[in-house]
Amino acid sequence: MLSIRNLHASRDGKEILRGIDLDIQAGEVHAIMGPNGSGKSTLAQVIAGQPGYQITEGEVAYLGQDLMELSPEERAREGIFLGFQYPVEIPGVSIAMFLKTSLNAIRRQQGLPEVDAMEFLSLVREKMKLMQMNEAFLTRAVNEGFSGGEKKRNEVLQLAMLEPRLAILDETDSGLDIDALEVVANGINGLRSAGRAIVLVTHYQRLLNYIKPDVVHVLAQGRILKSGGPELALELEQRGYGWVEQESKAVA
Ligand code: ADP
Ligand code: MG
Ligand code: MG
Repeated sequence: MLSIRNLHASRDGKEILRGIDLDIQAGEVHAIMGPNGSGKSTLAQVIAGQPGYQITEGEVAYLGQDLMELSPEERAREGIFLGFQYPVEIPGVSIAMFLKTSLNAIRRQQGLPEVDAMEFLSLVREKMKLMQMNEAFLTRAVNEGFSGGEKKRNEVLQLAMLEPRLAILDETDSGLDIDALEVVANGINGLRSAGRAIVLVTHYQRLLNYIKPDVVHVLAQGRILKSGGPELALELEQRGYGWVEQESKAVA
């Protein structure tokens, strides 16, 4: 689904990604872990096509296409979804309006008929039930005055409604108490499927107690220094990130 080769990216003249190699197949869940400032959010943003980054070297192929040739809107249409570490507020736009507009934009671009108000309501109600969300939520403005947990639930609700092929979730676990974490994790687990890949960017291994990844990567200093199975996340929790950086220095 996604194949990244020797990706280098800068922001304001500062190189942040310094040769990323990453392969993600449909059906897989990948966790990207690493210390603060290592470039995890940058990698997520570059894949989604957020402006402000310069790609200075390397290739990214998504479903056989050169991803860097596609605008952020085209990437969304092709099924790439990015949940932000710091979700933006959209005053005056209700969750219902936002979800219906996003869903129909994607459906139009995919040549599918738009959903009408009734279809939308029944679909969103079904998804909200799974997320244990109160329906009153639908009338609130996007992220305005939301608690950390509400923002994250909203993000997973978007995910459930839009059903992307490649979902990238940046620190979806941050600011969640244990109950909210469990609900959010269940929501994400419910979206695992053979045709979909999920990338969880996370600083802590806590989320991975609930969502078992197929592959865990350590990103540090703009490179993926080590990859392994779910046991790697547990080892990182025990030992921190320093040893991975030492190990890769010894090899280099
Ligand atoms: P992570 O998500 O792993 O914590 P980020 O991708 O957010 O890391 O940031 C990676 C690095 O890029 C950090 O060292 C950060 O200071 C730097 N960075 C982020 N934005 C800018 C910017 N506008 N100009 C220069 N450096 C930046
Ligand atoms: Mg950070
Ligand atoms: Mg980050």
